[in-house]
Amino acid sequence: MMPYQKIIKCLQNAGKEGYLVGGCVRDHFLNKKAQDFDVTTNALPQEMKTIFADYKVIETGLKHGTLTVLCDGEPIEVTTYRVDGAYSDGRHPDDVQFSSSLIEDLKRRDFTVNAMAMTAEGEIIDPFGGREDLTNRTIRAVGDPFCRFEEDALRILRAVRFASVLDFTIEKNTADAAIALKERVGLVSKERCFSEIKKALCGISIDRVLMEYPQIFATVLPEIEDTIGYNQNNPHHCYDLLTHTALTVKNSPPDPILRLAALFHDLGKPNTHSLDEEGIAHYYGHASKGTEIAKKRLEELKSDNYTKEEVLFLVRHHDAPAENDREQVAKKLRRFGSERLRKLIALRRADNLAQGPEFYRTQLHDQCLIWIDELLLEEDRCFTLSKLTVNGKDLMDLGYSQGPVIGEMLEKLLTKVSEGELPNDRETLLEYVKNAK
Ligand code: ATP
Ligand code: MG
Repeated sequence: MMPYQKIIKCLQNAGKEGYLVGGCVRDHFLNKKAQDFDVTTNALPQEMKTIFADYKVIETGLKHGTLTVLCDGEPIEVTTYRVDGAYSDGRHPDDVQFSSSLIEDLKRRDFTVNAMAMTAEGEIIDPFGGREDLTNRTIRAVGDPFCRFEEDALRILRAVRFASVLDFTIEKNTADAAIALKERVGLVSKERCFSEIKKALCGISIDRVLMEYPQIFATVLPEIEDTIGYNQNNPHHCYDLLTHTALTVKNSPPDPILRLAALFHDLGKPNTHSLDEEGIAHYYGHASKGTEIAKKRLEELKSDNYTKEEVLFLVRHHDAPAENDREQVAKKLRRFGSERLRKLIALRRADNLAQGPEFYRTQLHDQCLIWIDELLLEEDRCFTLSKLTVNGKDLMDLGYSQGPVIGEMLEKLLTKVSEGELPNDRETLLEYVKNAK
């Protein structure tokens, strides 16, 4: 028996109902592996605690009716049927009421494809036509879309997120309501917006969705507004700026950092535009302007620091010329480290593929990745201090006194080793240090 089936049986043995619900039911019918299993029940929170007394449980959000039960090592979220009260602030229900009706619980859910329940035996409960919408690949609000987006504007971003991730179309009334009420996204907590945006960016249809609903993304990233229909007016670019941005995102590996960097990479262009005598547009400094924009927006969205720093690095350097030979790659490896350099090349490749085909340099980008692999395997080279065969202690043993000179010497050694001037061989390096003193 699957862990969720055990959980449902456990509820039934206590005389309660239990159903799988939400994303896992949707993903089951799409033949996709479920991210997580959610169970919905008429058992009240305190009753659940008694029913699952023999299990390890985490009181995730007991006030809102959610208990996480660990079953065979798998966390299953069990939530009491709910009806949400009014949403006077457009972001949180004023109060949460528990309910004894499965249908009521399904009714409060955002989209028909997310509002289906399934029994432990696989029988489906689908009061809003979610199954049909799945077949037609449609995102449709449960009930009146205007009311539903007015209640909770996060659903506007969720609509584009699911359209992107599932490669679905947003049904006309739902899309109209999303656009009409888009300003309400500003009411939603930035963290929740950021989480939806990152998921949307990693979806397979992000290019289409970005081009169809740029105004919705612009509620969180206003600079997107200026890319709509923006003619780049440069022979290297056959697409307008929004299309170029959308294609760069789509061409990047589906990782939030790379896709955020792709989204931001050229947002500095409209602000740095200049024309030469021949009427060709240039965007000098757009990478640093883009970095500024990315910093401001990522901070606003409460991005974690790692994501922010990686994205800023990529945007800042996206426009530097590609390395043309192995030694140039070696220099960059030393400067940026292999992880960042690989990401930078992936972004550059994606950016390049979003230009006119006559400018594709895919082979060079792929070659740079091969050079990285080769250089990292070279026994005589290394690119980080930690891989150097001598360290600060060795220098002190040779009479260096503690302080900045040690760091400077190590940096010097690393430069020589990374550029192939000296082998990363302990004896040779110690000899070099002795002679340099
Ligand atoms: P994922 O694959 O990302 O986990 P999911 O559909 O499970 O997708 P969650 O954010 O985990 O999405 O939400 C679980 C379920 O809760 C949804 O399927 C939906 O039924 C309901 N839900 C989540 N957020 C909302 C919301 N803002 N308004 C209404 N219902 C929501
Ligand atoms: Mg989920």
